[in-house]
Amino acid sequence: MTDTLATAAHAARHRPSSWSLLLHNRLAACGLGVLLIIVLAALLAPLLPIADPDATNLLNRLQPPLSNGHPLGTDALGRDMLSRLLWGTRVSLVVGISATLLAAFLGTLIGLLAGYAGGRTDSLLMRFIDMLMAFPYILLALAIVAVLGPGLLNALYAIAIVNIPFFARNIRGLTLGLRQRDFIQAARLSGKNHWQVLFSEVLPNVMPIVVVTMSTTLGWMILETAGLSFLGLGTQPPNADLGSMLGQGREQMFSAPFVTLVPGVMIFLLVMSVNLLGDGVRDVLDPRLKSGVLQRAKAITDVQRSVIPAQNKPDALLEVVDLKVNFGSGQRATTAVKGVSFQVAKGECLGLIGESGSGKSVTALSIMGLVASPPGVITGGAIYVAGEEMLSLPPQRLQQQRGARVAYIFQDPLTTLHPQFSIGYQLAEAIVAHQPLNKQQAKMQAVALLDRVGIQDAEQRYAAFPHQLSGGQRQRVGIAMALANDPDIIIADEPTTALDVTVQARILELLQQLRRERGLTLLFITHDFGVVSQICDRVAVMQRGEIVETGETRQVLNHPQHPYTQRLIASVPHLGQGRQFLQRVRRLYASAEEKA
Ligand code: ADP
Ligand code: MG
Repeated sequence: MTDTLATAAHAARHRPSSWSLLLHNRLAACGLGVLLIIVLAALLAPLLPIADPDATNLLNRLQPPLSNGHPLGTDALGRDMLSRLLWGTRVSLVVGISATLLAAFLGTLIGLLAGYAGGRTDSLLMRFIDMLMAFPYILLALAIVAVLGPGLLNALYAIAIVNIPFFARNIRGLTLGLRQRDFIQAARLSGKNHWQVLFSEVLPNVMPIVVVTMSTTLGWMILETAGLSFLGLGTQPPNADLGSMLGQGREQMFSAPFVTLVPGVMIFLLVMSVNLLGDGVRDVLDPRLKSGVLQRAKAITDVQRSVIPAQNKPDALLEVVDLKVNFGSGQRATTAVKGVSFQVAKGECLGLIGESGSGKSVTALSIMGLVASPPGVITGGAIYVAGEEMLSLPPQRLQQQRGARVAYIFQDPLTTLHPQFSIGYQLAEAIVAHQPLNKQQAKMQAVALLDRVGIQDAEQRYAAFPHQLSGGQRQRVGIAMALANDPDIIIADEPTTALDVTVQARILELLQQLRRERGLTLLFITHDFGVVSQICDRVAVMQRGEIVETGETRQVLNHPQHPYTQRLIASVPHLGQGRQFLQRVRRLYASAEEKA
């Protein structure tokens, strides 16, 4: 075990495998350990030197545990409890697992068909499932056994049938969602028939959920089997499973409690270990958890660097020196930012431009230690804001600087604004976080800010929820959030990418206006040279985690040196006419407004 744990720990230093994640989850590892012991003991029962489970010996009845030759004592017929326990566990496990497999198979099939076919097939199948779900399920199982007759196999069928709805409902919901997805349409267009689409495209996508549901229902199935057997409807004498052992021990509950206690403890251990393991498996199969979210995210990005490079240009308000950021660690780490350096002077706007995935966002997030850690690690470099090195600040100080000194505007404010709170409330909250104001004052300031960023009827809009605003208005709220605490630097990470061209022009105009009025320092991230030419004084071009070219915007636009920059510029229609283009759009917009 220590060996496995050691190798697991080693693996975790690289990207954690499913196994190491599972073993890192202490409860799941315990569950796995206990379950392995139980399963091994049950499997080896025929080979172990134990008595015949059905050999009665009335002279030796109800011997207490640890008595001669019977480690767990004997039952009312003088049969060896240990041997019966192991053989009984075998039966319980086999029935539980088979019932789970059966229910998973049938439930998944029904769910897939209902979700994929839709319409009448869906209604018909789901009403059948609803019927099954309308009864308390142990009653339904009793009814089924009553019809089929008592016996182990019938108990198995009953339990499987009762559990079909759990699978069918889950899988139907997933399939409904998948049916509309583009890759399914693509598969259809490629000539696959419905069955092929269903089994080669849909099924692999729902399989993780099937496995998760199986792992979490197995425990229940074992319990339900035991319940039916306890009532005498499952295994028939002389055979025993854990439930029937419990039932038979009932009469000696007070004179010889161990007869019921032994199978009771075994049921407890078995179900507990299966459930703990099931929870662990569920966590591991979730791909988001696999990428390291299972380990709690830290408030501040990990910093592992040997030297702190000095600031080159003391009058720069923001200076990034040789920044390096990795995701993951050890051999399997990928480097997202490879030694990026740039400066932004006070009141200046620097455009950081590059195609998607070139490391712009990671660079920007590193400035305030906002890269998710794990898996992110800042492995080198320094970040100076007004001469102060950010990455060597104590965590609490750095957190205080967020929003107050450096604020962010993100691409889609719908994902950054909380859907359940009004925009005004969220704005006031951001204000109060850094300023000693009472509620009324904070509200007044929030309204003033909303007004400032061009939200009409700010007083009424204060109570609006994010979903009640248009994309442009939401981005204005995002900008108001960033302005809330009068930061020195605003980092705008593709703030106009999610907006249409007219709204984009107005947001850029707003940012320009704010820059003029407040002397705002702006780090503007984009992939669009048209936008850069509109707003930025200087531009830095990023490719694969490196800055390949920097310079005055006009200079770079007119005489791009690096081939990558040339390609980026070539991809923009009307080279160098971004401003004219946007002005044209703005004129169009204004005249449209006039007409309305
Ligand atoms: P962009 O320039 O489009 O903003 P990013 O800075 O977001 O690009 O990403 C840069 C690189 O870092 C990409 O290759 C991306 O795959 C990687 N990356 C970003 N976030 C993570 C993460 N949480 N885990 C692993 N890799 C990441
Ligand atoms: Mg980005």
